[in-house]
Parts: sequence; C-alpha cells; structure tokens
Amino acid sequence: MINTKALADKIKQNALKAKEEKSKDKLKKKERKEKHSKPEKEEKSVSKANVEEEEGYENAVTESKFTSFNQLNIRLELLESIEQMKFTTPTPIQSEAIPHALEGKDIIGLAQTGSGKTAAFAIPILNQLWEDKLPYYGLILAPTRELAFQIKETFDALGSSMGVRSVCIVGGMDMMDQARDLMRKPHIVVATPGRIMDHLEHTKGFNLKNLKYLVMDEADRLLDMDFGPALDKILKVIPLNRTTYLFSATMTNKIAKLQRASLRNPVRVSVSTKYQTADNLVQSMMLVSDGYKNTVLVHLLNEHQGKSIIVFTRTVVHAQRTAILCKILGFHAVPLHGQLSQTQRLGALNKFKSGKSNILIATDVAARGLDIPSVDMVINYDIPTDSKAYIHRVGRTARAGKSGKSISLVTQYDAELYLRIESVLGKKLPKDPVSKEVLDTLHSHVDRAMAESIRQLKDMHEKRDRRKRDDK
Ligand code: AMP
Repeated sequence: MINTKALADKIKQNALKAKEEKSKDKLKKKERKEKHSKPEKEEKSVSKANVEEEEGYENAVTESKFTSFNQLNIRLELLESIEQMKFTTPTPIQSEAIPHALEGKDIIGLAQTGSGKTAAFAIPILNQLWEDKLPYYGLILAPTRELAFQIKETFDALGSSMGVRSVCIVGGMDMMDQARDLMRKPHIVVATPGRIMDHLEHTKGFNLKNLKYLVMDEADRLLDMDFGPALDKILKVIPLNRTTYLFSATMTNKIAKLQRASLRNPVRVSVSTKYQTADNLVQSMMLVSDGYKNTVLVHLLNEHQGKSIIVFTRTVVHAQRTAILCKILGFHAVPLHGQLSQTQRLGALNKFKSGKSNILIATDVAARGLDIPSVDMVINYDIPTDSKAYIHRVGRTARAGKSGKSISLVTQYDAELYLRIESVLGKKLPKDPVSKEVLDTLHSHVDRAMAESIRQLKDMHEKRDRRKRDDK
C-alpha cells in the first residue's frame, strides 16, 4: 500500500525546515530559467574500446571457438590492424562467421549491436579486397546515420594498413559533396538505403555494377524503417554474382523473405550476446510527462522504501540535484558522478555498500568500471543515449540468480532513444501505470523541494568556485 499521504506530510515538514519559502519567487524564476535553458551536456563518455574492455564480453552465452585471430586464415597485414585495435580474442559472432565468410559463402547472421558483428563482416571483405583492390568493392547498408559512421570507422581502422578508401553516404548531408566523394572511387561505401539509391538514380557516372560484397546490417531495423522498397531497388541494380551478408537481431518473416530474395545458400550463424538481460530481471517502463519526472521518482522511492536502489541520470547536474532532492525529502541518497574525485566516489560507493545510504544516484560514466554490488532495483531517471549503457545499468540488479527490477521513465523527449533500446532488447517492455491521484498529491511538494535543491546546488557550486579562486 502506498503511504502517499504520510510522504506528502514528510515532504511538507522537510520543505518547511529548509526555509525555501523565503526565496520562493526567486527560486521559481531560477527553476524556470533552468527548464528553458539548453540541456546540460552529457557527461563525457569513456571511449568505446574501454567500455568493451571493462565489460569483457562477460555475458556472452556462446563461447568463442577460437582464442586468437591468428587461428583464422586472415592476412598478416589485417592481423596487425586487428592487434592495433586491441582485439585479442574473436567474439562468438566473429568465430562463427569469419571462417565461412573466408570460404566465400553468403551469411545470415543473427547477432546484435555490441556482439562485434561489424568486424565479423569487415574482416573477410577487407581480406579479399587486399587481393583485388577494386573501387566500389563493398556496399554496406545500415538503418541509421550513427551506425553507418561507426561501420565506416571500423573499416578505416581495420583497413588502415592497406590504405582502404571508404565513404559514408547518409541522408541530411550535402548531395554534391557526397557525389564528389563517390567519384573518388572508394573501395567501401557505407550508406543508408534511401540516400544511396538517390545517388544511384541521380549521380552521373556512379554505379555499382562491379560490386563484390553487399552487407545489410541490422536488417530488421532496415525493414522496420520502411527501407524495404529502396532495398528492392538496390538489389536490382547490383550484380547477382556477389557475396551477401545479412545481419539481424531478430528473425522475422520479413527477414526470411529478404534472405530468400538476396542470399544464395547462406550459412546461418547465430549467437547469443551480452545484450541479453537476465531472466530474473523484471523490466518495465513508465510514460511520464517531463515536468512530472521528479514526482514519479519520489513516488517510486517511497513505494520501494528500504530497498537498495540505483537511480541513473544522464548528467552530473541531474545526479547532484536529484541526490539533494532525495535528502531534502528524507531519503538516504548519495550521488556518484564524474565530478567527484576517485576517493569521493569510493566513499559514496562504500556508503551504499554498507547500507548507510540505500539509494545511489549515479551517472553512467561514474558507475562504469566500479564494483557496484547487486541491488534490488534500477531506476532510469534519464534514458541512456546508448543502448549498451541500458544493458549495463539494468545489469546492476538481478545478479547471480537473485531477482531484480528495473523501471525506465520515458518522457515525450525520449521516444527515439527508447525505441532503439527496445529494438536492441528485441522486445517491448510492459508499461507500469502511474496513478494521477498519487502524482497530484505529491507534485507541488516535490516541486517545492526541487526548487530548494536547485538553490542548494547553486550555493554548492558558488562555494566551490570561490574555493578554486582562493586556491589560485
Ligand atoms: P559491434 O557489434 O560491431 O558494434 O561492436 C561492438 C564493439 O565491440 C565495438 O566497440 C568494437 O570495437 C568492439 N569489438 C569488436 N570485436 C572485438 C573483439 N574481438 N575484441 C574486443 N572488442 C571488439
């Protein structure tokens, strides 16, 4: 039973204690200013490679067949690039796919982002390109710009020793610039289907008649995003005599149809990746209007009083502000973010571990690489911009066979990010209801406490700046 009334009273008392009424009007103004000011920059992310090292492919269900890339029949020069990228062991999808690909087979790969699938198709293409060195050798189709840029980066890094030329052709960029880049006869074209089709139709002198490799990456998303017609058109203007790789996170009827239309006797490789969340983790989401996020958070913390909870925020300021808000309202919360020194971070963590504080308010960057104990619940106060971070976050609960719960607060601004997470998870999460009555009871109290927390945070920052000046 939710003791909303008691919480509301508690909030009232605490808010009074904090004397925020004194500067109510001033605070409201500040708050409004903050709401309308540009969103704070996200905490700088550690490099992808580091994250991989930390995560260590620990959750991969399928073991890699090979312990080293040397066991695969890859050219020495390519092995050197692989070593430079600090890839030591092939991931399961690489172990499964590369040997077949090196034999020249078509491949359908069931694997998700994060599995190492990009290198799984880039390595065999580059291995063969080394022999042939022909322009427009490989076309890689990806559903989004971000993914296309990432794929290009992987090709550039792996192909650095052989002087590979690649281009990224995606929507939203200048067509003329892209046409010029295409005329420079790149070996590898990474593209979104709509834009490359545009060039195939309108850029004079550009065609893919000599294409040797076609990759359709995240094919399920390509089809979800209505790229089906563009794919059909592309398939008609490229040679039938080519090698095709199709990668998808899920196997659907549509994918099977695409497979039949584009692949010849493909070898099917399928891996379970670290992107799977534990079975004993109960994940859900709440649709929340942005202005009610704090109220919903307080409601959840109240409902799960006494449990150990990690609240994840996207920025340092959100972590600081939310931690102060929780304290004002009488919760035992401690912040953990990148602006704390290593000693302070460990101190915060120890408080949480020892149970002195049962709520940890953390940013991803600070939480990464730290040995955070198993917790009862993870709340995504802010939706992470990176789907991998989502898995990392919710992986803090339901560890070692214990049960756990995660709730993500999804606002009107998070739809795209959230859909991306669902697509990586390969499922829709159940929607938890939020009672309007509960929110209405709490909202004005939480709002006032928030105003106070913003004031306290500003004080804190001013003091810190003064100290810095004095130190200088
Ligand atoms: P992908 O699934 O292709 O997006 O790859 C996910 C991440 O794994 C990327 O950051 C790659 O750089 C990294 N990666 C790919 N293969 C390996 C490997 N064999 N060892 C370590 N990291 C890898």
